[in-house]
Amino acid sequence: MLLLSIETSCDETAAAVVRDGRTILSNVVATQIRDHAEYGGVVPEIASRKHLEMIPVVIAEALRGADVSIDGIEGVAVTQGPGLAGALLVGISLAKAIAFARGIPIVGVNHIEGHLSAIFLERPVEFPFVALAVSGGHTHLYRVDGIGRYTTLGQTLDDAAGEAFDKVAKLLGLPYPGGVEVDRLAAAGDPERIPFPRPLLHDGSYNFSFSGLKTAVLTHLKKHPDYSSEQNLRDICASFQRAVCDVLVAKTFQAAEAAGVERVVMAGGVACNSALRRAMTAAAARRGMELSIPAPPLCSDNAAMIAVPGDYYLTRGIRGDLSLDALVSWPLDTLKTRFAS
Ligand code: ATP
Ligand code: MG
Ligand code: FE
Repeated sequence: MLLLSIETSCDETAAAVVRDGRTILSNVVATQIRDHAEYGGVVPEIASRKHLEMIPVVIAEALRGADVSIDGIEGVAVTQGPGLAGALLVGISLAKAIAFARGIPIVGVNHIEGHLSAIFLERPVEFPFVALAVSGGHTHLYRVDGIGRYTTLGQTLDDAAGEAFDKVAKLLGLPYPGGVEVDRLAAAGDPERIPFPRPLLHDGSYNFSFSGLKTAVLTHLKKHPDYSSEQNLRDICASFQRAVCDVLVAKTFQAAEAAGVERVVMAGGVACNSALRRAMTAAAARRGMELSIPAPPLCSDNAAMIAVPGDYYLTRGIRGDLSLDALVSWPLDTLKTRFAS
């Protein structure tokens, strides 16, 4: 099936053309990072307006890049949530308009399910696997028994890992969004210089907590106001990043072992982090487990990842209609009910 997929859940306006939920013909992402940078975070109202401005351009570019006309598109998959209501509605409204005008089916896709499915655009992974979704709004561990079949094993009790990266970057005076900057500076820092806490590392759950770690960085900065020196800055970034990675890696593989699963997938924007990719790879090799992480452009927000579950549902007759509405919160575990009827 030739699908047009649309993603506008946060600050990326994205559209893609994907064949059979596997082959990317085009994958266009227009980021709004510069529009939000001066505010130090995403401003919902600006995001909606920017999506409205960019979505026609991005869709036209996706069709052109795939060398297909709208007549060739057989279905539409759109991010229905979770995300910012106003931002989601821009993509949803346009997707509904296209589906109605062309008389083709539409399906609403969960953004996090999109992140977790991105790997299938690169290679097949057998079920079941344990998945770590690590992004700006999520740090969740799931057992995955198939597309649409997710069981939450644990999640962050406060900040998401990406949020922690961005907040620590802000404390250090680094430009928004901070995750990439921390990654870059940490590359030349000493990760063992500052013993930041590893929150919940030994609590026996698969939950995470990152707000205390962020406070630990703040406390360190107050005690050592010399962090403006380039090397100190690098060491703080590296030490903070190591603390985050230690917890993410340990809990992910503990969860996989407890679930008796030998395959692990990591996805979401923070999965771009170079130290985290290395640490996960080393941990998987030690345990003889299979690890799959999409290439960075498929880890951060894009529309091709939305087409993967979109194709799966549409080819099984699971579809939405013109009453499809934004879901600001949409836990993955609830997707199982889609198969019930
Ligand atoms: P969600 O997917 O939870 O709805 P989102 O879509 O806003 O949230 P993503 O776009 O998937 O989040 O990921 C963005 C996050 O990833 C930001 O917090 C950003 O700082 C972080 N990030 C991106 N690259 C890196 C990196 N190299 N190192 C650490 N963090 C990174
Ligand atoms: Mg984003
Ligand atoms: Fe995302």
